[in-house]
Amino acid sequence: MRLYEYEGKLLFGKAGIRVPEGQVLDNEAGLKSMEGDIWPKAVKAQILKGGRGKAGGITFAGNPQELKNSVKSLLGSSIHNEEVKYILVEEKLAIEKEYYLSITYRSDLPVVIFSQHGGVDVEELSKKKPSAVIMEPIDIHTGLKSKQARKILREAGIKGDVDELTDIMLKLFKCFYANDALLAEINPLVQTKDGLFIAADSKMELDDEAAFRQTNLKLPERRDFARKTTPIEMLALKNDQMDTRGAAGRMFYEIPGGDIVILASGGGTSSEALDSLYLHGGKPAIFTEYSGNPTAEKVKGLTKIALSYPGKLHGIWIVGGRANFTDIYETLVNGIMTGIKETEGFDKRIPIVIRRSGLRDMEAFSTLRLMRNSDKFNLFLRGMETSISDSAKLLIHHANNYKKILKEEKNGNAHK
Ligand code: GDP
Ligand code: MN
Repeated sequence: MRLYEYEGKLLFGKAGIRVPEGQVLDNEAGLKSMEGDIWPKAVKAQILKGGRGKAGGITFAGNPQELKNSVKSLLGSSIHNEEVKYILVEEKLAIEKEYYLSITYRSDLPVVIFSQHGGVDVEELSKKKPSAVIMEPIDIHTGLKSKQARKILREAGIKGDVDELTDIMLKLFKCFYANDALLAEINPLVQTKDGLFIAADSKMELDDEAAFRQTNLKLPERRDFARKTTPIEMLALKNDQMDTRGAAGRMFYEIPGGDIVILASGGGTSSEALDSLYLHGGKPAIFTEYSGNPTAEKVKGLTKIALSYPGKLHGIWIVGGRANFTDIYETLVNGIMTGIKETEGFDKRIPIVIRRSGLRDMEAFSTLRLMRNSDKFNLFLRGMETSISDSAKLLIHHANNYKKILKEEKNGNAHK
């Protein structure tokens, strides 16, 4: 999970790293209280994507009127296609020098990355002059120690006293480690004209797999870089946490304007499925995955949540390759089909296309054939002989037929 700058700075502050005095706003009402403050201010749009500075997301205000104007124009605007919902107003720093400092993982090892040429152009610098950016792996058994920190700073060309930078580096590592972060970045780490080191920006990414032991953080849920989690996405996440076997709902996206539910399995298949559907003119309403042999109960729950999509649905596509160890009978029959059966008001004319193979698939398919005949589901069964692309075409064809039927029905009713 990516953190907003202000959230990252709260964690930095807790770790003892100096951050600018500031306040987060989501409306203009909070501005009044700042009139007696110290000026000028830095006004920073809070978005989860990087590179705000260059996109106009950072401005400076010399007085309350300028601040009001800045906040007005930034709040609700869109930067890199992301709506600005929060603004961080901080004391403007008098910058003497900008450093770059981060801790992240490379090839499964934590690394420190440091440069004495930080700021908005550090990415270009690392390409043009790689030697200006020092990267060193950290021994996971000992963590980062001050001896190594000092060595890195020297290698990066820092002369004189390195005590303070060493201290910040060690604190950042602790912050990274204690919060189960995948990335903790300070760019720029500013040295002010008064000689103070202050984290002027923060970029943190936390490991979602470790969220269960970071319960004290209480950060608002988010799954996408540009929007909040929807209610049914939240339900899907909860569904996935029902038990620890397999996944069913960890990946769940509600896509406005679509009309197809995709229950996919396997990363490669999933992206091929989405590409195929779009290519042939279909639009997903729900895209979700189940894999790793989840329990039937969990797949059933996921199916019901997907079918509770608030918009109109015209097709269900259950798509996967040949599963290695996922029980096809359990997941398709006891999971998905039972979920569909238990969905109140489910229109059995909605086409359901299944393209799947693997453990117990013969058994599953013969039961599904019986269901098709007895329960009158509009069910199409395919295995590996049918390409993902062809099964997408099949689904779209029948979804269009179903749409036609609905339209005729509506017209028929209108005539009466
Ligand atoms: P980013 O573009 O999203 O990474 O946003 P940053 O917070 O890193 O800000 C980009 C640049 O704006 C920094 O490298 C600084 O040069 C400048 N900047 C940000 N905050 C301040 C500040 O308080 N004072 C001054 N003088 N410059 C700032
Ligand atoms: Mn930055």
